[in-house]
Amino acid sequence: MSKHIIVGGGVYGAAVAWHLASRGEAVELIEAGSIASGASGGPGRRGVRANGRDQREIPLMVRAREIWPALHETLDTDPLFETTGQIQLFEREVDLAPMEVRAALQTRLGIESRVLGHDEVREFEPEVAPMVRGGLYCPGDGVAFHKATTLAYAAKARAAGAVLREGVAAARLIEKDGRVSAVQTADGEEIPVEGKLLLFCNAGVKPLVAPWIDLPLWSRAFLVAVSAPLAHNPVRHLVGHASRTLSLKREPDGRLMISGGRPGRWDYVTGRGTPIQEEVDLNVADAVAVYPSLDGLEVETADTDHLEAECIDKIPVIDSLPGNEHVLYAAGWTGHGWAIAPAVAELMRDWVLDGTKPRLLEPFAFGRFG
Ligand SMILES: Cc1cc2nc3c(=O)[nH]c(=O)nc-3n(C[C@H](O)[C@H](O)[C@H](O)COP(=O)(O)OP(=O)(O)OC[C@H]3O[C@@H](n4cnc5c(N)ncnc54)[C@H](O)[C@@H]3O)c2cc1C
Repeated sequence: MSKHIIVGGGVYGAAVAWHLASRGEAVELIEAGSIASGASGGPGRRGVRANGRDQREIPLMVRAREIWPALHETLDTDPLFETTGQIQLFEREVDLAPMEVRAALQTRLGIESRVLGHDEVREFEPEVAPMVRGGLYCPGDGVAFHKATTLAYAAKARAAGAVLREGVAAARLIEKDGRVSAVQTADGEEIPVEGKLLLFCNAGVKPLVAPWIDLPLWSRAFLVAVSAPLAHNPVRHLVGHASRTLSLKREPDGRLMISGGRPGRWDYVTGRGTPIQEEVDLNVADAVAVYPSLDGLEVETADTDHLEAECIDKIPVIDSLPGNEHVLYAAGWTGHGWAIAPAVAELMRDWVLDGTKPRLLEPFAFGRFG
């Protein structure tokens, strides 16, 4: 049997390793650090949000929403997903019309959505500031424990027979007679590619495929600030904002997670991020502006240790390498690759097993860049 090689042990690598191994395929996964040490790890939970997504990702979200609620049963673990509903708040009149159009579009594509007006938004989030005019509400959205989910996929992959090797970094792809034939690791080991080669190493995909294509991606260390436990946490839903860089998640232990995409500083030598205090302060200031009762909130943890790849048009690139149809890659999730992962992982499995790119993945082809 031809063995498939997977590079990267985040949610994508771990989930596809499990899908393939459980279908009887031979799989070896190499991960530079440890499983879930990249964007699929870190504090808090990840948003499972359809609200505000690019419409090309909505069909993936429709399928992901079917998988998330019972995923813990499939993976034999504690509950991973919680339905909270997501509200994207807005303060500017100019944001109302696009929200109304978006609500109609999302609903038509299978994601129930509606605009909440001034009074209704306060029934959902009673403590928002007076200048909040309303919000776009998606009742089926929620949050999931990202590290636990990724580790659960990896445990299932191992149980199904996949070999997962940690501390093994891919340094380059070796080409023989015009075809990628092996992965050379940082230690000089050559791992032959007999079946498919699946590059799920997120920020690490661009340098590996650089001899063939110039992916329009860059890397970012996003800031996640987690508060000390709050005696009173005013945030009830998963909350985003139309014009502020802000995402708020209520943690089960009374903490509040504040994020939204503010940057940290990344050190490519150590592979670690350093928070920028000004960005932490701005993130907290936005949270307090929207929920005044958060005034005085103390940040217990500021984390920027989890690198994500962003794409120029804010949706991922999912394709095969030119001239190498056995080399598939997926990267450039732009801060929202978590929610759709269970659906995309299934489609990647189908692509490997059937040899045909699934229709739902067509919008993410490299060819869209000309
Ligand atoms: C702070 C933060 C908040 C986010 N919030 C959300 C959210 O709320 N909702 C949402 O949908 N998405 C969110 N995302 C995005 C989401 O988490 C990611 O898109 C997703 O986890 C990417 O999974 P992955 O498996 O592709 O990458 P990763 O989890 O990064 O896994 C890639 C792995 O590859 C390894 N690697 C890299 N290079 C090599 C190499 N050369 N050889 C071997 N291994 C290598 C890395 O060590 C890493 O473990 C967020 C991301 C971050 C960072």
